[in-house]
Amino acid sequence: MRFLITAGPTREPIDPVRYISNRSSGKMGYAIAEAAIEAGHEVVLISGPVNVDRPRGAAVISISTSDQLFDAVQRRIRDCDALVMCAAVADYKPAKTYKAKIKKSNENFSLELVPTRDILVSLPTKDRRYLVIGFAAETENIEANARKKLRDKNCDIIVANDVRVAMESDENEVGIFFRDGEMKKISRASKKIVARELIKICEKYFEKRLTKKNGDEFVL
Ligand code: C5P
Repeated sequence: MRFLITAGPTREPIDPVRYISNRSSGKMGYAIAEAAIEAGHEVVLISGPVNVDRPRGAAVISISTSDQLFDAVQRRIRDCDALVMCAAVADYKPAKTYKAKIKKSNENFSLELVPTRDILVSLPTKDRRYLVIGFAAETENIEANARKKLRDKNCDIIVANDVRVAMESDENEVGIFFRDGEMKKISRASKKIVARELIKICEKYFEKRLTKKNGDEFVL
């Protein structure tokens, strides 16, 4: 299979020296890229700024902003069998980027933020041949939020994790939600082990989809 995997945070510039970002380490996305390569798949990894070693054998595209990530995904999407959208895309960006460094003053300072474009939502749904795996990083109502995201973002699979366990950690514990309502849990393990399980699930799901007759439902 050809995997297109996104990983890490995005940075939304405020001025030449400041940005808005998040605490995503990129470890989960990189572990998924490694597991896919290990299983013999082709991997294109689109990565935000992280301090993780590049997986050997992956083509790596470095991006910084959510707009760059949006463009990189749009350019590569037609050549993949599965998109794994693991990147922690900023939900908001500054309405404008200041050209010069903002000077400090003793006054309060407000920054206007606008929503970033949602990459998953922007993907065409008609005749889609690739699998779409989204992630949901939550602190509460994990299952309800994951099921809503599955529908709203037109994903085949949503991998939900509790950010209190996953963020910046080498371990993860995830719930995997499928379009047909099925759910599978992977209990707490290293991101490497979780990644291997996810790749197996993608392989199985992709194979079933290839052999699925029109209108047939399938269960994993
Ligand atoms: O809505 P939320 O950010 O919680 O959804 C998370 C999922 O949506 C992740 O798979 C993330 O990569 C993706 N996402 C996106 N475009 C955005 C924000 C998030 O594709 N602008």
